[in-house]
Amino acid sequence: MDFKQLTKISFLVILLLNFMPMKSHCIVINSDEDQQRKCTPSKSYSFSIDPEVLAEYPEIVIRINFWGINKDNGESEDPLTEEKVMEALGLLNSAYADMNICFELNEFEHINNSTAYWGSTKNFSKFLRDFKDEYVKDDALNIFVPYRFTNFDDGLRGVNFGYNKLAVNMLNYNTGILPHEVGHSFRLIHTHQRFKSERCEKVTRDPDNLEFNAKCAGDYVVDTNAVPSMYGSEGNNITDDCKYTGNAKDCDGTPYNITEDDVRNFMAYTKQSCRSRFTVGQGIRVRETIELQDFYQKMIVDSKK
Ligand SMILES: [Zn+2]
Repeated sequence: MDFKQLTKISFLVILLLNFMPMKSHCIVINSDEDQQRKCTPSKSYSFSIDPEVLAEYPEIVIRINFWGINKDNGESEDPLTEEKVMEALGLLNSAYADMNICFELNEFEHINNSTAYWGSTKNFSKFLRDFKDEYVKDDALNIFVPYRFTNFDDGLRGVNFGYNKLAVNMLNYNTGILPHEVGHSFRLIHTHQRFKSERCEKVTRDPDNLEFNAKCAGDYVVDTNAVPSMYGSEGNNITDDCKYTGNAKDCDGTPYNITEDDVRNFMAYTKQSCRSRFTVGQGIRVRETIELQDFYQKMIVDSKK
């Protein structure tokens, strides 16, 4: 038997072993108590949802660079103007006001690049890598505004590329997707994160309930309820005034308790016109994230660090 045959046979044996019914020697966690014990919240965060804690954070001013993107020849079907930049800045400043975060315009420039103007996020990501030194300044949050992304039949509104770089298309420079993508830069995640997984965020908000896992599941923020993605069919269950009328259930079959605050959350997958607020818990998490990482300090005006 040569080496090739031997390899073939051992492969077959491994394959068979995988399918043979064997008595399991795995340790199985059965009890609810064990399930809850598996939740060890991150020690880096307080998980506070106390408005007084948030209010005590001193105001910080974060520099922003806006980069309008034109075609190679400098033209655009819908150019980013200074007026639009100020509008976007105003939106961000209202969205982050309760966190005592203020955004200040540092630079506003245009870039001529047809691939970035109207292309895929993959190509955009390459463009950011290729021109990192020119356009991705690490002393500011860099917001790029291309005409469109080709993803989802030109439907993709925005995308976050890291703590100091994100892009929203020209249709969304002044919509809720802008604070949403900025939220990702401060490491906020979607309120429905992993809602389909068996380790989904549970509905209960009672810390004594053995099912309570809000610090270890979903977006790890306790005052955003467990929610599903409300894009697609669930979107039909959102009224024009942002109330949820559906009856979706979490991964355990418990009906969600979805409030207007949840429907209006910037980090939810929800009706675009409803994205209009953050919770206190999200605000505290953002401020704690900014304190945790030195690279944010470079973006802050007059930072002591
Ligand atoms: Zn997102």
